[in-house]
Amino acid sequence: MGIAKGQRALVVGVANEKSLAWAIAQQLHAAGAEIALTYQGELLEKRVRPLAGQIEATVIGELDVTNDEQIAATFGALKAQWGGIDMLVHAVAFAEREDLRDRFLNVSRRNFARSMEISAYSLVALARAAEPLMEARGGGSIVTLTYLGAVRAIPNYNVMGVAKAALEACVRYLSIDLGSKNIRVNAISAGPARTLSSSAISGFHTMAHEVAQRSPLRRAMEVEEPAKMAVALLSNLASGVTGQTVYVDVGYNIVGL
Ligand code: NAP
Repeated sequence: MGIAKGQRALVVGVANEKSLAWAIAQQLHAAGAEIALTYQGELLEKRVRPLAGQIEATVIGELDVTNDEQIAATFGALKAQWGGIDMLVHAVAFAEREDLRDRFLNVSRRNFARSMEISAYSLVALARAAEPLMEARGGGSIVTLTYLGAVRAIPNYNVMGVAKAALEACVRYLSIDLGSKNIRVNAISAGPARTLSSSAISGFHTMAHEVAQRSPLRRAMEVEEPAKMAVALLSNLASGVTGQTVYVDVGYNIVGL
């Protein structure tokens, strides 16, 4: 494609070869971008390093998005290496497994706050750290991943739906703060994809089956589909698009009955 040639992208959220972040990193690489990856903890480092090798990506180091020192170190390393970045992919979310089943009502104060911090606030923290590096390049583009559970009550998605609603609101507010610096912020609302995170959602199989049966396209979403949209939103092709939640879900969100 070449539409991201000469662009530098940080992709946060690769856990393994099934991760949506990995699909995005591969598509960005195919589009000509230089990629930097982070990992969360030693276990994931073992998985991320070989993947990075496949796309000639730089592994920056460990990044737990709740850790401000690691955020500063990540963007400090990017500044030292590249001077600036053009693209940021935020593909990070967390909820305790016990909160992805049964009644939303039962979520504890602590677990609620932790889900919000990792799944929504982290976008704000990363965008703030990215701002000067994107300014140095004359602008940039940020993409995060969300799900329909932000705007509809989806059984078992529970606290993660609340966190995704906050995430989508963060996208709108960040787009206003960063727009004058030519930095765009958008979310992709992806359909169900079998990943490490989604396997924690009780009844995930039923959700995925429902989409394949009832979506306008009558099939499941392929992980390459949100990844290709991410490349478009991150690139200059989407120069007039910011603050949006773009559905890449084989059309399921428009179905009534
Ligand atoms: P995934 O491969 O498990 O990716 C989630 C990533 O978040 C993992 O790399 C995970 O690392 C990371 N993470 C969790 N807590 C973190 C923290 N404190 N600091 C840094 N990273 C942390 O699953 P995925 O499905 O691709 O998820 C990527 C994004 O897509 C998420 O925002 C998810 O909600 C969204 N999404 C997924 C689907 C779907 O059906 N899969 C649909 C719509 C939207 P650890 O494994 O170490 O926790």
